[in-house]
Amino acid sequence: MAEKGLVYSSKINKIRSFALILIFAGILFMYGGILTRNTQWLMLLFFILGVLLVVLSCVVYLWIGTLSLRAVPVICPSCEKPTKMLGRVDACMHCKQPLTLDKELEGLEFDEKYNSRRYKKKKQ
Ligand SMILES: [Zn+2]
Repeated sequence: MAEKGLVYSSKINKIRSFALILIFAGILFMYGGILTRNTQWLMLLFFILGVLLVVLSCVVYLWIGTLSLRAVPVICPSCEKPTKMLGRVDACMHCKQPLTLDKELEGLEFDEKYNSRRYKKKKQ
């Protein structure tokens, strides 16, 4: 994996950074609204977009909350810190160690495809 230069981050962390980006984008849009306050329709457009993005990020945060409840808490074998897993394969939140709950997948290269429905079907 290191050779490929790919770093897999934990899904929960990924969604969290996505929500953070949404909040920043929302704030930027609202700032754009302040800058264009001379053009009323443009200001209104920026503000509506900004509010929408902030609301969307709140929804994403709520979604993370429910996902965290369903996630399986495990102790990472590499760094020995508690982390949470989503799906069959995920990465440690602290050290990015790829983790799996499936014995069959142990030792295999980490791949997001193991979480997909199609892969599960093929295995059965
Ligand atoms: Zn770890």
